[in-house]
Amino acid sequence: MEKKNLDWGNLSFEYQRTDYSYVCNYHDGAWEEGGLTTDHTVTISECAGILHYCQECFEGLKAYTTEDGSIVCFRPDLNAKRMASSEKRLIMPEFPEDKFVDAVKQVVKANAAWVPPFGSGATLYVRPLMFATGEVIGVKPADAYQFRILVTPVGPYFKGGCKPIDICVSEYDRAAPHGTGNIKAGLNYAMSLYPYMVAHHNGFNENLYLDSETRTYVEETGGANVLFVDKSGTLVVPKSFTDSILPSITRRSLVYVAENMLGMKVDERPVKFSEVENGDFVECGLCGTAAVISPVASITNEGKKTTFPAGCDEMGPVMTKLRGTLTDIQSGKVAGPEGWICKIC
Ligand SMILES: *Cc1c(COP(=O)(O)O)cnc(C)c1O
Repeated sequence: MEKKNLDWGNLSFEYQRTDYSYVCNYHDGAWEEGGLTTDHTVTISECAGILHYCQECFEGLKAYTTEDGSIVCFRPDLNAKRMASSEKRLIMPEFPEDKFVDAVKQVVKANAAWVPPFGSGATLYVRPLMFATGEVIGVKPADAYQFRILVTPVGPYFKGGCKPIDICVSEYDRAAPHGTGNIKAGLNYAMSLYPYMVAHHNGFNENLYLDSETRTYVEETGGANVLFVDKSGTLVVPKSFTDSILPSITRRSLVYVAENMLGMKVDERPVKFSEVENGDFVECGLCGTAAVISPVASITNEGKKTTFPAGCDEMGPVMTKLRGTLTDIQSGKVAGPEGWICKIC
């Protein structure tokens, strides 16, 4: 198969249309068969539910080329499951999990020419999404939906490697406490844009949200989970008692790698922000599909800056090891647990 003529090493993290998307419609209580399309636009009624009451959710994963030339993706079954739980919370029909994985395989295979070659640092970003197409004017769930998957080749999320970033505690609460922060949906992102722009204006790369009930505990940033390393080398993973941290697949994979492959101690528990300010942690990182781990140099809260001594100028040793092991599993260099790598073609 002939690859597209792209400058693979210099792709940015921006949308670029490819040959095919996947589309499947829901109406009259059932999903259609669904399939590939070359139409990359969506036409909907001005009264479609998505435009008024924001019934929409999405997923994000990546497909890439391994050393032996296969095209694979990482744990798509977990994306399928998480999307189904987002759909459930938004009263949208669940897209069957096996159909989801099959759709990912179909659309990636059809766009094989757009999958960046091994070693380029780039990946094919896969974005499944679902939205209400049915018309609603009174507040209620719509009766028709569209599930789509678009794919687009992207470069590394952070250009220039893994330089630690500075983040701040958000003055604003997350949009959706009590179990709606754990759905992957545009509505949560819409509400995070204002605080994000404020943080940028003040010179920070990201916002860290505290629990909105007591503003005591660490939750996550707008689009990534948080990890800490304490002085004894334990990986400390914030847990939400209001179920408002998005269950990151990267975080769950890193926790598994830490415990079962690196022999590390992992402590998943509510983490008070005061522990950060007390200097209890030596490293901090943000994790998600796009960057795997991005190291955090400092967190500022109300003008008070806390730095992480072991990861300030460059990524700290524990985060480096964790990131390296997971990326080696993803690239097929190191054998990971059964089923983590899903071969497409
Ligand atoms: C997608 C997302 C993450 C990261 O999840 P991954 O499955 O690791 O990509 C973290 N937080 C939020 C709010 C997200 O939307």
